[in-house]
Amino acid sequence: MGPPGAGKGTQAERLIEKYNIPQISTGDMFRAAVKEQTPLGLEAKKYMDNGQLVPDAVTIGIVRERLAKDDCKKGFILDGFPRTTSQAVSLDAILRDLGIKLDGVINIAVPDEELVRRTTGRLICRTCGATYHLTSKPPEKKGVCDKDGGELYQRDDDKMETVKKRLSVYAAQTKPLIDYYKNSNLYIEVDGRQDMDAVFNAIVASLAKGK
Ligand SMILES: [Zn+2]
Repeated sequence: MGPPGAGKGTQAERLIEKYNIPQISTGDMFRAAVKEQTPLGLEAKKYMDNGQLVPDAVTIGIVRERLAKDDCKKGFILDGFPRTTSQAVSLDAILRDLGIKLDGVINIAVPDEELVRRTTGRLICRTCGATYHLTSKPPEKKGVCDKDGGELYQRDDDKMETVKKRLSVYAAQTKPLIDYYKNSNLYIEVDGRQDMDAVFNAIVASLAKGK
């Protein structure tokens, strides 16, 4: 877990490489189930085609099918699931059924001010798409791309108001889930203000402790 901009994707990539296990994201799972045309995949597709949220029962069925596959026998990383407490309760039931125990629930915690600083400072070149950052990676000349002199702009998604709204939605949705895992003794909080290597080492150390 971790708010948008905390670096979950980067850490997940490094973890699957280190432990040689699959990363299981809800998006990938849906796409695979739809492609393989499993009954649940077809069911999910109906909702997605109509732009509707896939109901929990279908999502959970797809997670169960995925976790039962052979490549999950030596471990896996769940990414983007569970998102709610009721999904977490269902996941616990699936894991019990399959005889799997989680090693930990990792939360990459980053304070809102830091996330706002990271995202709202982002600038993108209109010509080549290169990314810069006002403070951590500024262009040589203000507002202009180093490579091609293209104009740098801020995406609507990175504007202060949008970022703040996204973070408050995330906090409201996730707070109960964090509390749920804190009670389960699986919860590992890592300080996401550190650089990527330090975050990675902290995650690996917590997992090694066998929490
Ligand atoms: Zn450029």
